[in-house]
Amino acid sequence: MTREPGDRDGVGLCLRCAWMRRIVSRRGSHFYLCGRHRHDPTFRKYPPLPVLQCRGFDPNPVPPPE
Ligand code: SF4
Repeated sequence: MTREPGDRDGVGLCLRCAWMRRIVSRRGSHFYLCGRHRHDPTFRKYPPLPVLQCRGFDPNPVPPPE
C-alpha cells in the first residue's frame, strides 16, 4: 500500500520496524515492504496499512526520517 513519507498514523508499526523496506516508485509513490516475508510467507510482502499489531515487530534502533 502506498502512503506519504512521515504518515505515521497511516503506516503504523512498520514505520518503526527493522524489517521494513520503503520502496519508492518512479512516480514517487511510497510502498512499505515487509522483509520478514522472504523468510516466512505467513507475513505479507506488502501488509495492509496501518499495521497496529504484529508478532514480527522488531523496533528499529535508528529512528525513521521525519
Ligand atoms: S514485521 Fe510486522 S511491523 Fe515489521 S515490517 Fe513486517 S509487517 Fe511491518
